[in-house]
Amino acid sequence: MAIYDFYCKKCKENFTIEQSMKDELPKDCPKCKAKNTLRQNYGATPILFKGEGFYCTDMKKTTN
Ligand SMILES: [Zn+2]
Repeated sequence: MAIYDFYCKKCKENFTIEQSMKDELPKDCPKCKAKNTLRQNYGATPILFKGEGFYCTDMKKTTN
């Protein structure tokens, strides 16, 4: 899961939406219901869930 920050171009409202990274990002504003007005707020710090399985595989190159 990841938390995305959005803002609505129309009502200028900010939203924090938590969803899976493989899901398509929402485009419609949940507040004013305007279509296609949500924009991802890249200025905010993205919060990524670093679970197990993100280890660097270079460690396995020591084969001697
Ligand atoms: Zn809106």
